[in-house]
Amino acid sequence: MTDRTVANVTCLGCGCACDDITVVVTRDRIAEARNACALGTAWFGDGTVPAETRVNGRTASLEQALTEAARLLSGAKRPLVYLAGDVSCETQREGVAIADRLHAAIDSLAATAAAAVLAAQRRGRAGATLGEIRQQADLVVFWGVDPSARYPRYTSRYAVEPPGVATAQGRKSRTLIAVDVGESRGPADADGRVAIASADEVDGLGMMRAAVQGRAAEDEERFRSVVELARRMTGARYVAIVADSEPGLIPADPARAEALVTLAQALNGPTRCALSTLRGGGNRSGADAVLTWQTGFPLAVDFARGYPSYRPQAGAAALLDGGEVDAALVIGTPASLPEPVATGLSRVRSVAIGPRASAATFQPAVAVDTGKAGIHEGGTAFRMDDVPLPLRPSLGDGVRAALVTVRALRERMGARA
Ligand code: SF4
Repeated sequence: MTDRTVANVTCLGCGCACDDITVVVTRDRIAEARNACALGTAWFGDGTVPAETRVNGRTASLEQALTEAARLLSGAKRPLVYLAGDVSCETQREGVAIADRLHAAIDSLAATAAAAVLAAQRRGRAGATLGEIRQQADLVVFWGVDPSARYPRYTSRYAVEPPGVATAQGRKSRTLIAVDVGESRGPADADGRVAIASADEVDGLGMMRAAVQGRAAEDEERFRSVVELARRMTGARYVAIVADSEPGLIPADPARAEALVTLAQALNGPTRCALSTLRGGGNRSGADAVLTWQTGFPLAVDFARGYPSYRPQAGAAALLDGGEVDAALVIGTPASLPEPVATGLSRVRSVAIGPRASAATFQPAVAVDTGKAGIHEGGTAFRMDDVPLPLRPSLGDGVRAALVTVRALRERMGARA
């Protein structure tokens, strides 16, 4: 039991993946996570995790659990592998290998941002790292989002407050515009505000694109405020459009993500513009990256034919809802699952391996608790802008690692990594 301080720890509490956290460990508990916001502090907690191993509700050895998990999954006709939150890319990669071996469907938390991912595939992406936005952006447009709730340090670390190469005075060097889309409001302290009804959002983005491209549009008067904003954006030196790609209370128009992409692309004619899409935590961007480099597709991949095929309209929730799945392997924190996936999993036999697996509401037949990536385990995780970051564990002695557990299951099933 050694008290210690671990610097440069990466937080996975949201997609900002802040890597400037200093964790103070006292008596093998996290006593403090310096620099972390409230969301991050809650994500770290005191570092304690349950260490149960269960088969059919009864305590079992790891050997028994892995044997039963391999038997259950190998015997399934239509298995599903789901990559949930709080595991490293290395562990996600083991999950892909298992899906390949089982000829299973595989999906992940990355699917929560499916609209943005699909829009980028159709249209490309005018993006930038958060570092470039910090260095360059002098006009930041928050499109229907105030990052303070779900991405608390986005503004202090990246887009608003820190000084950059072209924004030497930080906040004073930048102009912030909040676009309130229906009930989804931008930051309260913005320098300017524009409001648009949710029903008009996609048309409004189209009008802005037309204005940027110098095309006349018939209905311009109706969209005067956003058209004026578009003209102002063309006059900026470097624009960042910040939008949330995770679902809110009100589902967004599916065309919205594409309209944002094309507006950002159009702005790269008269000026520079990056679209910064906000994504949640738990290394969901890593799942997107791992699936892409292992299979060629970012989400909703199906190995049923013996090779990866892409079924973006038939992700985990749809497969479970349609009764197509007869067994599932969940890798990661079950509490991070989207509600439709968790509900669907309660209707099939399943295996859960990850942090707090034993607390899964869908009652897996096999549950193996592990540590949390970034707290008990190292490896790699991706920030919301697809920048990979190392994970520095501050605890871990005596806590079962997700990577070695999933790898042991994969080896038991004869799958190659
Ligand atoms: S902003 Fe996100 S990544 Fe950063 S400390 Fe808060 S929860 Fe963690």
